[in-house]
Amino acid sequence: MKNYRKELWFNAPERRAFINITHQVEECLYESGIIEGFALVNAMHITASVFINDDERGLHQDYDDWLEELAPHEPISHYRHNRTGEDNGDAHLKRQIMGREVVVAITNGQLDFGPWEQIFYGEFDGRRRKRVLVKIIGE
Ligand code: ZN
Repeated sequence: MKNYRKELWFNAPERRAFINITHQVEECLYESGIIEGFALVNAMHITASVFINDDERGLHQDYDDWLEELAPHEPISHYRHNRTGEDNGDAHLKRQIMGREVVVAITNGQLDFGPWEQIFYGEFDGRRRKRVLVKIIGE
């Protein structure tokens, strides 16, 4: 069995962003040389997510609106978490609902997606360097 590990770095210029990372994960897969197996892709930070859905601008705006309704960034004082002096209480909650990781089957050297599936990095407390782990196992 082969195994492969890589960290992808991101630095979103805004507080919140959705970044399509499908192509970067595919590059990892080609680099790994693995033809059959599984790829795990996870955010390494508790204020960011990795998830799979459609690459559609309207949908991403809907996510952002929905998440802001569930856990608005402001008022910052609304969150007990922020009593520590941080301002990212909302980002922890947004990450929880959008998820930590995805696992994708690898078949014939390709990510074995359903229709329209793409992998996204969801940033909820950006403007700093943050990482995503890609771990691929198989043969
Ligand atoms: Zn925090």
